Amino acid sequence: MSVAAEPLPDPHTDVASIPATVARVRAAFDADRTRPEAWRREQLAAIAALIRENVDALEAALSADLGKPPFEGFVADLGVIIGESRTAARQLKRWMRPEKASTPVNMKPARARLVREPLGVALIISPWNYPVQLLLSPLIGAVAAGNAAVLKPSELTPRVSAELARAVPRYLDGEAIALVEGGVEETRALLEERFDHIFYTGNGRVAQVVMEAAARHLTPVTLELGGKSPCIVAQDADMEIAARRIAWGKFLNAGQTCIAPDYVLVHRDREEELVEGLAKAVRSFYGDDPRSSPDYARIVNTRHHRRLAGFLKDAELAFGGELDESDRYIAPTVIRNVGPESPAMQEEIFGPILPVIGVANVEEAIAFVRERDKPLALYLFTGDPELEEDVLARTSSGGACVNGTIWQVAHPNLPFGGVGPSGMGAYHGRATFETFSHRKAVVTKGTRFDPKMMYPPYGAIRTRLIKRLLG
Ligand code: NAD
Repeated sequence: MSVAAEPLPDPHTDVASIPATVARVRAAFDADRTRPEAWRREQLAAIAALIRENVDALEAALSADLGKPPFEGFVADLGVIIGESRTAARQLKRWMRPEKASTPVNMKPARARLVREPLGVALIISPWNYPVQLLLSPLIGAVAAGNAAVLKPSELTPRVSAELARAVPRYLDGEAIALVEGGVEETRALLEERFDHIFYTGNGRVAQVVMEAAARHLTPVTLELGGKSPCIVAQDADMEIAARRIAWGKFLNAGQTCIAPDYVLVHRDREEELVEGLAKAVRSFYGDDPRSSPDYARIVNTRHHRRLAGFLKDAELAFGGELDESDRYIAPTVIRNVGPESPAMQEEIFGPILPVIGVANVEEAIAFVRERDKPLALYLFTGDPELEEDVLARTSSGGACVNGTIWQVAHPNLPFGGVGPSGMGAYHGRATFETFSHRKAVVTKGTRFDPKMMYPPYGAIRTRLIKRLLG
């Protein structure tokens, strides 16, 4: 398969119009337009309809921008949004319901509860690798929680950006939900404005820019970032399964997945077997020539293609390594004998290149992981439950999956997010609703009687009594 090579002008919005756009959306929030449950339901249904009625156009845009196979485009970008909006609509009443808290006897008569209230206007900034999902999935929680929102898709997937810019005003409430296309300049202009929450997905360097801007207005942030997610393969692992599941998680979307296994630490005794298994899995997924497979994606742009090609310069290839810049193609590739100082180990790879590193035992693998930044995901292949507990207890990562890859992000009842440099905050399902809600603590006092104990003048006797009661 080949990617449409025609260049498209970068998405752009007149930055002078941005303050008025944000003001319009804020006015809608201030007028309580977004609070009613009916509005939230309408918008959730409209998000699902936006996807359902534009599947072909969005799939075509994903294919043109990323060479994304229709299966992957539907499952990971489009279908997931239909599913999440349906879940949010189904659960909305329960999520919105105030949560009762019990009241201790010394505080009675009183009734206590937690009330979820919308934060206000949310800014959602998304990257290019799952460009529909990562923009609209946070929006689902934002509208479910009754917020207005401004969306900023990535400029690096311009056709998807254009499709979304066309569809969002047609389907969603244009008074309360705006989409601003563009890149650095437009995002900087947006960040000058005051928001009530900023939800940013992308790399850690830009996250610092976002957080600094947010600090000026004391705006809370959710940062969904990346990092080098390790995959540990223990001596007892089922190697055929491990190889297949690692290859699937790594070469999905040509490795451009924030939770793709970045590198593998495998017990030295089983290294050969793993590498052979990976080669076999790749052949069974994409045939002898992955380039002609309809199921293998392309690299997003020439800059990233060159960056990835740099990792292969002096690398020892186990298999793969074929490159074609004109088609933004890089074959599924495994490299070996990769030292910690090699270029591929200096940054998140974010492409279809997998370093396989032999280790003497799991202890060495744990030490290797702990010496580095806390990753977004950690993968472990073992059949030993004790080893599983040990590795999970002694390593820190945003999430983890044992004997599999990627599944932790897809689980409907688990929040997804990073820790330390891989991010802060989490979302998906109810967690997205919570991210965009303020939990207001409310006490309603009864008025039938009003004990004078707490009112001055306190006097010595009451002071002694209170010390005895509470001390
Ligand atoms: P990107 O280049 O599309 O940037 C993300 C967003 O930041 C875009 O909307 C872009 O316009 C904006 N931006 C870029 N530079 C900016 C600047 N200087 N000032 C203000 N805004 C700016 O995407 P990316 O950052 O290359 O995305 C890849 C990274 O995102 C990887 O590290 C990956 O692991 C991570 N990621 C994380 C998740 C997650 O859910 N945790 C999901 C996908 C990707």
